[in-house]
Amino acid sequence: MNDSDHFRLCSSCKTPIDFGETYYVCSVSTCNRKRTGLTFCKVACWEAHLPEMRHREAWAEEERAPSRQQWAAQQAEEQEKAQARQKRAQAGPAEALSNRTSDDIPRDILIVVSKLKNYIRARSGMNTSDGVTEVLSDIVRDACDEAIVEARRAERRTVMARDFNVE
Ligand SMILES: [Zn+2]
Ligand SMILES: [Zn+2]
Repeated sequence: MNDSDHFRLCSSCKTPIDFGETYYVCSVSTCNRKRTGLTFCKVACWEAHLPEMRHREAWAEEERAPSRQQWAAQQAEEQEKAQARQKRAQAGPAEALSNRTSDDIPRDILIVVSKLKNYIRARSGMNTSDGVTEVLSDIVRDACDEAIVEARRAERRTVMARDFNVE
């Protein structure tokens, strides 16, 4: 796909969408995933997918296809990230953190419950169930494990903010 002469195909009519050309995506997130999302060459093609998907509320968003060079650069960058991710997965937190057995590792709630609830309420008016803090704590622990691997790779004894920025 790397040497393709167009950016993507229209998901409805299969017309090629050229590099640098305007195209349309659906406002609904399930139609608009970064890699696998639907792309449309014109608004009419976007409209064509509506009956099938039964969106309650949707609109077409105009986008511009990257230039061929931008696109190639993006592909290369994503490939690099994927390789880095794979390497991290192979090294694995288990190996990198092997000086502690899992029994020693605290499983505390790492989230300030009241602040989390305030945030969700302010943002949406919704309540927050108690289990959420456990799930989020696990997410934080996973992120920390990855950051520890990064810090170790850089031969530091301090986990730094930038260790979390590796996508
Ligand atoms: Zn089309
Ligand atoms: Zn859609």
